[in-house]
Amino acid sequence: MKKLIFAFLAMVAVSCGGNAQEEKSSEKFEVTKSEEQWKQELTNAEFQVLRKASTERPFSSDLNDIKEPGTFVCAACGNELYETEHKFMSGTGWPSFDRAVEGGVAYGRDSKLGYSRDEVHCARCGGHLGHVFNDGPRETTGKRHCINGIAMDFEPKNQ
Ligand SMILES: [Zn+2]
Repeated sequence: MKKLIFAFLAMVAVSCGGNAQEEKSSEKFEVTKSEEQWKQELTNAEFQVLRKASTERPFSSDLNDIKEPGTFVCAACGNELYETEHKFMSGTGWPSFDRAVEGGVAYGRDSKLGYSRDEVHCARCGGHLGHVFNDGPRETTGKRHCINGIAMDFEPKNQ
């Protein structure tokens, strides 16, 4: 009888483990701050894009023209997001990349405009960066990460 009870308890334990794992899959970020804290730390324009998922005006970012080697990091938390070597001139007016730094970004869905788009955000603080489209350079990944320049800072390689 004792053995039976033990087997039963073991089964309960296993199913609880399963539930816990499901909870884990909902995104939790290493850097979390209240809306008030973000408001204090970011400029209003940065806050609107990073925390409210708005989109900057095309051709408004200084980062559009950057060609020198370096890393684009999250303006909110400093996480490495993109490298210049994966940047390409898309002509859209937003900094565009064919791939992200591995583990630097995470993806979600956004249906704000009435159709579904792949949203991309910082994997460390969850800050909204932009969207991913499938019309990128065919000779590489075919992806176009269309990123708000204001959501990033640029760190040149040789500094
Ligand atoms: Zn971040």
